[in-house]
Amino acid sequence: MAVKIASVENGSAAQAAGLEAGMVLLSADGNAINDMLDYEFYTSAPRLELAVSMGGKLEYVTVEKEEYQPLGCNFERYLIDEQHSCKNHCMFCFIDQLPPGLRKSLYFKDDDERLSFLFGNYITLTNLNEHEVQRIKDMRISPINISVHTTDPDLRVRMMANKRAGETLRYLDEFAAAGIEMNCQLVLCRGINDGEKLRESLTKLISLYPAVQSIAAVPAGLTDYRKGLYKLEAYDAATAAETLDILEEFGRACVEKLGVRLVYPADEWFLLSGRPIPGGDYYDEYRQLENGVGMWRLFHDTFIAELEASRRLLLPRQIDLVTGTMAAPLLQSLAEAACKKHRALKAAVHPIKNNFFGGNVGVAGLVTGTDIIAQCRGRLQSKLLGIPEVMLRTEQDMFLDDVTIAQLEKELKVKVKIIPADGAAALRAILGLKD
Ligand code: SF4
Repeated sequence: MAVKIASVENGSAAQAAGLEAGMVLLSADGNAINDMLDYEFYTSAPRLELAVSMGGKLEYVTVEKEEYQPLGCNFERYLIDEQHSCKNHCMFCFIDQLPPGLRKSLYFKDDDERLSFLFGNYITLTNLNEHEVQRIKDMRISPINISVHTTDPDLRVRMMANKRAGETLRYLDEFAAAGIEMNCQLVLCRGINDGEKLRESLTKLISLYPAVQSIAAVPAGLTDYRKGLYKLEAYDAATAAETLDILEEFGRACVEKLGVRLVYPADEWFLLSGRPIPGGDYYDEYRQLENGVGMWRLFHDTFIAELEASRRLLLPRQIDLVTGTMAAPLLQSLAEAACKKHRALKAAVHPIKNNFFGGNVGVAGLVTGTDIIAQCRGRLQSKLLGIPEVMLRTEQDMFLDDVTIAQLEKELKVKVKIIPADGAAALRAILGLKD
C-alpha cells in the first residue's frame, strides 16, 4: 500500500534524509507498509532504504539513525489504514447498552490488534486473519491483551454471537508456543460463564503460564438500556462472593505453585460482596490496573502515604467531592482520614447514583454531569467541587453526556477542581497544594 506522508517531525531522521509532506512512502527495505505496525517494525533498523515517490517519480532514500529511533513521519490517520471494528455481538456488550443520542465515537466498537500493542486495548481474536496472526508471531507483538470470557468454544460462540469465537481460541495456544505474552480478561455474566465454566477457563489459561501473564475477571456492567438484548442478571452480594471464592481459590493455588497470583479479581467483586480490598502485595505489579483491578488499593495506599508525609494545612479549606456509589464509602474513609490530620480541612463526599445509565452501574468513570447537577443542587457545603478525572473525556473538560465543566460550574455555582486518579496527587488537589 502506498502511504502519503502528512508531515515530517522537525529534527527527525526522516527530515535529515530529505523526506517531506506530500511524498508517498512505498516500502522500507523492500517491505510494504500497510499500517502503523508495519511502519514501526520495518523502520526500526539503524540503516534503511526507503522507496518513496513524489509527483509519480520513484526515488530511493537511505536513512541512517539509531536503532528503534522513530523515523519521524506522520500520516493522515494514526493507524495509517482504517481502525478494525469488532465482528461480535456479545450478550454483555456495554456499547449496545448505551442510551441513544451520545456522541458518535462512543458507539464505535474497536477490536484492533494494532491498538492492543500500541495502547493496551483488548482484542477478541475473532476478526484476525491468518496473515495477521502470523504477523503477531513474526513481529513478536507482545504482550497482547485478549478478551477471552470463556475457554469453552461453544459457550464463547454463544456469548459473543460469532461463529469464529470458538475456533479462534486456538490462537491462545499458538501465541503461547510462539512466546507471545498475553494478558487475558474474563467478563463474567451471572449463571453463564461463572461457576464450573469459570473453573474450566481458569484451568486452561493458567496452563498457558508463563505466556499468560495475568487473568482479570470483571463482572458484566448492565444498564437500563437492554431492551431486545439477552436477559442478564446483575451480581448481588451472595453471587459476587461465590465467584470471588473461585477466583481467590485459583489465585492462591497460583501463588503457591508459580509464585505469582495470575488471577486478579476486579475491585467490584470485593465491593459487591462486602469484603475488604486486599493489600498491595496481592496485585503483584498491578498488571491489570487498566481493567480496574487493584485501582482502589493503589489509590488508597498512595493517598495515605502522601497524607502521612504532608505538612499540616494552615489556612481553612472546604471542598465537596463526588464519586460513584461503589467507591463512595472508600473515598469517605480517606476524606475522614485527611480531615482528621488536617483540622483546617472540611471535605464532604457525595455518592452520585447513576440514573443516566441505570442498572448496576456504580463506577465513578461513568458518572455524568447531568446526574451530578441533579443530585448536588442545593446540597453542596462549599464553593469548591472536586471531580475525579476519570469522569472526564476529551480535554478533561466534558462528561460522557457532553455536559462541560463550565456548564457544571454555572449550574451549581461552584469552582471545579479536578481530582487526579493517582492517590498522592488526589490528596494534594484536595488540600490545594501545588504538584
Ligand atoms: S467485542 Fe463484544 S463487548 Fe467488545 S465491543 Fe464488540 S460486541 Fe461489544
